[in-house]
Amino acid sequence: MQNPIYTISTIAKILQADVKLANEQTIIQYLIVDSRSVLVPENSLFFALSSHRNGHEFIGDAYHKQIRNFVITEEKYIALYPDCNFILVEDSLNALQKLATEHQQRFNLQKIAITGSNGKTMVKEWLYQLLAADFNIIRSPKSYNSQIGVPLSVWQINADHTLGIFEAGISAAGEMDTLAEVIQPQIGILTNIGEAHAEGFASKDEKLVEKLKLFKESELFIYSPDYVYGQDLSALPGQKKFTWSSTQGADLRIIAIAPVDGNCHLQAIYQNQEIDCLLPFKDKASIENGIICWATLLALGYSAAEAGLRLGRLSQVSMRLELKNGINQCSIIDDSYSADISSLAIALDFLNQQNQHPKKTVILSELFETGKDDQVLYTEIADLLAQKKVSRLIGIGAHLAQYAALFKCETLFFEDTDAFISDFANLQFSHETILVKGARRFEFGRISKMLTQKIHDTVLEIDLNAMVSNLQFYRSKIKPGIKIMAMVKAFSYGSGSFEIANLLQFHKVDYLAVAYADEGIALRKAGITLPIMVMSPEESAFEALIKHHLEPEIYSLEILNSFLKALPEGTSNYPVHLKIDSGMHRLGFDDAEIANLSSVLKNNHQINVQSVFSHLVASAEAEHDGFTRHQIDTFKVAAEKLIDGLGYKPLLHIANTSGISRWPDSQMDMVRLGIGLYGFDAGLNHNQGLQTVIVLKTTITQVKTVGVGESVGYSRKGVMPNGGKIATVKIGYADGYGRAFGNGTGKMLVNGQLVPTIGSICMDMTMLDVTGLEVSAGDEAIVFNKEHTIMQLAEDINTIPYEILTNISQRVKRIYFYE
Ligand SMILES: *Cc1c(COP(=O)(O)O)cnc(C)c1O
Repeated sequence: MQNPIYTISTIAKILQADVKLANEQTIIQYLIVDSRSVLVPENSLFFALSSHRNGHEFIGDAYHKQIRNFVITEEKYIALYPDCNFILVEDSLNALQKLATEHQQRFNLQKIAITGSNGKTMVKEWLYQLLAADFNIIRSPKSYNSQIGVPLSVWQINADHTLGIFEAGISAAGEMDTLAEVIQPQIGILTNIGEAHAEGFASKDEKLVEKLKLFKESELFIYSPDYVYGQDLSALPGQKKFTWSSTQGADLRIIAIAPVDGNCHLQAIYQNQEIDCLLPFKDKASIENGIICWATLLALGYSAAEAGLRLGRLSQVSMRLELKNGINQCSIIDDSYSADISSLAIALDFLNQQNQHPKKTVILSELFETGKDDQVLYTEIADLLAQKKVSRLIGIGAHLAQYAALFKCETLFFEDTDAFISDFANLQFSHETILVKGARRFEFGRISKMLTQKIHDTVLEIDLNAMVSNLQFYRSKIKPGIKIMAMVKAFSYGSGSFEIANLLQFHKVDYLAVAYADEGIALRKAGITLPIMVMSPEESAFEALIKHHLEPEIYSLEILNSFLKALPEGTSNYPVHLKIDSGMHRLGFDDAEIANLSSVLKNNHQINVQSVFSHLVASAEAEHDGFTRHQIDTFKVAAEKLIDGLGYKPLLHIANTSGISRWPDSQMDMVRLGIGLYGFDAGLNHNQGLQTVIVLKTTITQVKTVGVGESVGYSRKGVMPNGGKIATVKIGYADGYGRAFGNGTGKMLVNGQLVPTIGSICMDMTMLDVTGLEVSAGDEAIVFNKEHTIMQLAEDINTIPYEILTNISQRVKRIYFYE
């Protein structure tokens, strides 16, 4: 059995839609919503959805990639592409959901649906691990749980599957009914319910009621009464219910949770018997998710002994792939936890987005794809590798080599992971991007460890999906047609260089801006082709700047004249940007200089003014709104004057992040998006609508007991009158955790508890007061994350998030997550 097979005309019938078909017999197997990720174009049906961007804009791109089948709402495209199949619908998202629903109804497998505020993906993946021995399971790829992700997941069901595990997430009231219809689960699991405001609901109750709609037709509902507190119990879904909690009356009543060397021993009462299991995790989230899985196994009829055995074998799940620096200047994309074709496609897309090295290697294990013939599977994979321009495949597994002829790139095969590792010294890895992707049992973690630079235990984690979400947030605030310049100065506010620029280029921002020529040159060398503005172009770097086609900001007549001199003879229309001082009094032309500037520029053909801009000094601050208004007006007047002199109209721009969110009429032709991308906007109420992008973590090296009256650290600053316990972590002022955080001013999160620093911050280390807490060497300490925010740190030491971010030193390793 293959992927679903429908002819385009069957699909049109299911959708009861108008059509214009060039070939009625076209077979459709794949549904896609993003023209960038295509597996087999001839059998793909593209849904032009309108979310942040109108999907119809990408029909041209999809056509270029050989896609010929489209579901659209705008009729005009039919005439443009006469050799294509078009299905014309009222609402293309509805159509996608309807098609998935129809498809799902053709099979009678068991379906489990999971919803809740946290833990959905983890519970789904763990249930997959726990039940894979007994069922042929189809599950949502990654965390595909949205109005789009759920239908795409359900579409993958085929006749061989005996169990489906799907997660469902919602961001607004009214969405769950649709997902319930698409999945139609017989079994429902509610993981938990978090605080309401973060998720777009007015109250916790409203959110719960909405989530429970997923299970309205379910036979069995598994939940904790702690999360449905105050609800009318008779209104809960499910003819049968199975509850877990530490309170009386729960079907699985937890009576003890005890950490034992990195594991956690759980005890409970079930059917009047005491039962237990050893969960190989000890963090709070894993414990709760483990209990939910325990409850599910019992509710499904597994014996307590069998359930305990299986839980003891659970392994870590990572849905995200990681981008990090490797040996010999390589970039490593580590996706060594899962291997199926849909996640391979996602990983290859990400590999393809990397421009820093022309050479791209994929280290791939055999895949195990339910119900797919190997020949078909590896043909698909070979096509995919060719499409994504992979230069070399290193295949690992006993059966892979027999398909060697399918692959067009350089290939190399190994029997198993050990064979690869013992030959490692003879293999060449240098200046290339390497995707490491293997099924769990191949233990590719060992390979990625050999390929990556040693990471000392302080890491800055950057969530690229969160950054894209923030970009989309600002896109939704600007008027159509307005361009975006992304500010990536100072290593993208501390978060990286080409890694961030690749992402922004892929997501089609229009411009990048850096502070110095060097930063721009580094981006060019990493393959970034977007136009790049350099805000402080040093005269000494003009030659290099021109060579790399960077565009200088011109802020004075002196710099203009010396730049004109530096341009090679015969240059014409070299792009530059003019800065006007509208009130910041930093760089830029004053009003009085404009006439002079115009006369120099008039009839000069060496340069072309791409844009004229200025900078707002207080766009986030209501108390200065009068001044902001004045700046916008001053800029407009000065720009008009310049344009009159120039005789053509460059792009005008003045808005930074908070300009976009607070001053719609400052958007002009382009906006300059900076800190908003990284999740902060002082112009928004508590950054509402933005996601946390950056997390800084370190590790506890040692835990010590300190006696009564003893002191901690340099100059005996840390006093412990009553004695206590301290933990030393591997971060200090040389990493960017400044001395101002010392002596209790700063706090870190250790095992979910906020603990203060004690004593002065050292160069490479910091001591934390962990008196009374259960901690041990090797535990993680979180410097900042979504809960313990950079905003809080900034407040603690009286500065702004910009400074906290950009202070994190380059020796702290960056890891990029993408899913
Ligand atoms: C840094 C910078 C920005 C971005 O400001 P944010 O407040 O981070 O959005 C915009 N314009 C100029 C000239 C800048 O230097």
